Amino acid sequence: MPKGSMWVVEDKKQKHVFWPNAQMKKRAWANSEKIYAEAEKDRAAFWEKKAKEGLHWFKPWSKAYEENAPYFKWFVGGEINISYNCLDRHLPAKKDKVAILWEPEPTAEKGRAITYGQLHEEVNKLANALRSLGIKKGDRVSIYLPMVPEVMAAMLACSRIGAIHNVVFSAFSGEALKARVEDSEAKVIITCDGYWRRGKEINLKEQSDIAAAMPCVQKQIVVKRLGNKVNMQGGRDYWYHELLAKEKPNCEPERMESNETLFLLYTSGTTGKPKGIIHDTGGYLTQAYWTTLWDFDLHDGDIYWCTADIGWVTGHTYACYGPLAVGATQLIYEGSPDFPDWGRIWGIIEKYKVSVFYTAPTAIRMWKKMGDDWVKKHGLGTLRLLATVGEPIDEEAWMWYFNTIGGGRCPVIDTWWQTETGGTLINALPGIGPFIPTVAGRVFPGAKADIFDDRGKPVEAEDTGFLVFKPPFPPGLLRGIWNNDEKYVETYWSEYGKNIYFTSDGAKWFDKENIRVTGRVDDVMKVAGHRLSSAEVEDAITLHSDVVESAVVPMPDEIKGQVPVVFAVLKPHAKACPECEQSIIQHVGKQIGPTARPAKVYFVDALPKTRSGKIMRRFLRGMLANEKLGDATTLQNPEVVEHLKQIVGYKAPQ
Ligand code: ATP
Ligand code: MG
Repeated sequence: MPKGSMWVVEDKKQKHVFWPNAQMKKRAWANSEKIYAEAEKDRAAFWEKKAKEGLHWFKPWSKAYEENAPYFKWFVGGEINISYNCLDRHLPAKKDKVAILWEPEPTAEKGRAITYGQLHEEVNKLANALRSLGIKKGDRVSIYLPMVPEVMAAMLACSRIGAIHNVVFSAFSGEALKARVEDSEAKVIITCDGYWRRGKEINLKEQSDIAAAMPCVQKQIVVKRLGNKVNMQGGRDYWYHELLAKEKPNCEPERMESNETLFLLYTSGTTGKPKGIIHDTGGYLTQAYWTTLWDFDLHDGDIYWCTADIGWVTGHTYACYGPLAVGATQLIYEGSPDFPDWGRIWGIIEKYKVSVFYTAPTAIRMWKKMGDDWVKKHGLGTLRLLATVGEPIDEEAWMWYFNTIGGGRCPVIDTWWQTETGGTLINALPGIGPFIPTVAGRVFPGAKADIFDDRGKPVEAEDTGFLVFKPPFPPGLLRGIWNNDEKYVETYWSEYGKNIYFTSDGAKWFDKENIRVTGRVDDVMKVAGHRLSSAEVEDAITLHSDVVESAVVPMPDEIKGQVPVVFAVLKPHAKACPECEQSIIQHVGKQIGPTARPAKVYFVDALPKTRSGKIMRRFLRGMLANEKLGDATTLQNPEVVEHLKQIVGYKAPQ
C-alpha cells in the first residue's frame, strides 16, 4: 500500500482489497448500493428506465424485452438513431466542446481538435456522400482506417443512414480485409492513402485494393492522410475530401428500429476462426452509454483516453460510441507506443492532461518491462482513474499500474467483457468498489451472471467453473453471427441449453459478489482431478523475479490427465538454465500448491500473440499435442511459431 494513501484497504486472502474514499464516492455518478438493489429487483425495468434516461428516441418502444431463446429483443418498436445520439442532441450545449483530440505519430506534426459541431458537419456530409453513391439502409460498408478522426466520422455516417459497418484493423493485411469484405458482402470500402507506424509510411491503399477487387465492392472512398502516391481507379475510387466538398451539411437521420443491425465486428480469433458478431442499435447504445458513464465516471472537464484500436470492440464502444454518446472529450493517437521512444504514451498523457486512461494488460506488462525511468520523465498528476481490458491482469502488473502510473491515487477498473457482449459486464464501479488485483469485480447492474460446473450446477465457493449469463440478457449482447446462425446457437447457446449464455470463459467467486475471470474454458485444465486455470499459474509465475511473462498450457499426461507446462520469457539479466527451471517450478508449488507444479518450463524469446495482444495458447497446446495448428491470420508475430516448434520438437500430424 502506498504511504499516506487515502484508500481504505483491507487484506483478504493475502490480496489487497481497495475501497473508494469519500471524495471519490462523492464525485461518482454511480456511488450507491441502491443501484444494484434496484436493478436486481426487475432487470428489464432497470434497462427500460436507463434507455429513456440516457438516450433520445424518435419513437418509444411498445415492449421493453422479448425473448424467444436463444433469440431476444430489446425496446421492440422503439426508433432511434445512433449518430443523432452521439452528435445532434449535444449541439445546443456542446457545439464548441472538443469531441476528438487527435495526436498524430510524427512528433513534428500538429494534432487536431475537432468539436462536436465540426464532427456533426463532417458526418452529415459523408452520410450524404454515401447516399449519393447509392448506399442504403442495411448495406454493408467496410471501414479500413487507422486511428484518425475520419474513422469515427465514417462509423457515425454509416449509422446515420442505417448502413451496417464492419471496421477492420488497419494493421491486418489486404487478404484479411478481403476475407471480411467477402463474408459481409461489403459494397463500399472506406480507407486512406497511408499512415505512420513506428516512423514508417504504411501504404494502406495498396492493401485495400486487394479487397476492392472483389466483385461485391462497387466503390472505394479514400481519406488523404499522408499524401503518398496511390493509384485511383476511375469510376470506383473517390477522394474523401472531394466527395465531402460537394455535399450539404445536413442529412436526415434514418429512424432505426431498435433491434436493427448497427455493425458487424469479427472477434480476435484467440480460440479459432474469427466470427462476424452482429450488434443491434438501441440495446447496444444503452449499454455503451451507461457503462461508459459509470465505469469511467466521465464528467465535463475530463480528458479520456482509451488506447484500443478502433478495429477491436473496445475501440467501437469505448473510443467511439460510448464517449460520444455521453458527450465527453476523448483523445486518439495514430501511432505506436514506442515511437520515438517508450516515453511517448506518458508524454501524451502529460501534454493533453489526460484524466481517465483505459488500456490492456499486455501493454501494461510491456511498459513495466521497459522500466520506470520512462514514466518518471513525465507528470501524470492529472490521472484520476485507470482501467484495463482484454485478458486477466496479473497481480504484479495491477500493482505497478496502480502505484507507478496512478501514483496510488487512481482506482484500477478491471473490465471483463467480449466482442459479443457489446459493453462491459463485470467490473468494479469507481464510486462503489472494491478494487482487487486479479479480480474483475461485480456484475454490472442489470445483468445476471453465474459460475457453473460441467453439469450446469452453480459451483461451490472455492471452485473454478464456467462463466454464464442468465435472462434477461444484457441489452448489448450479440444478436447473431453473420451468415452463420448455426454457429451462433452452437457457440453460445448449447453448452447449458438455449436459456443460458455461455461465455467460454472460466471463472471463480472471490467472495459472494466479486468474480475472478481466469481465462478461456480451453485454458482451464484438470490436473489429477483439480481444476486449475492458466491465469492462476501465470499470475504466480510473473511474481518470480526472473520472468517477464509466461503462458501456461495443459499437456496430456497418462496419470494425472493433464499437467501444466510453462512457456516463459525471461528478463534480460536472467539465464535460461535447469536451475532457473527448477526455481520456477518450486515457486509455483509454493504459491499455489503441489498440484499446480509445472511439469516443464520452456524458455522462449516471445509468445504467440494476436494483433490485439492476447496470448494464443491454442498454438502452444496444439504444439505440445502434435495437433494441426489452425488459423493464424490474426497472429501478430507469426515468425515466433517456427522458433517454438523447434523448441518443443513439434511434429505436424500426417
Ligand atoms: P475468439 O472468440 O475469436 O476466440 P477473442 O475471444 O479473443 O476471440 P474478444 O472478444 O476480443 O475475442 O475477447 C474477449 C475475451 O477476452 C473474453 O472472452 C476473455 O477471455 C478475455 N477478457 C477480456 N477482458 C478480460 C478481463 N478483464 N479479464 C479476463 N479476461 C478478459
Ligand atoms: Mg471469444
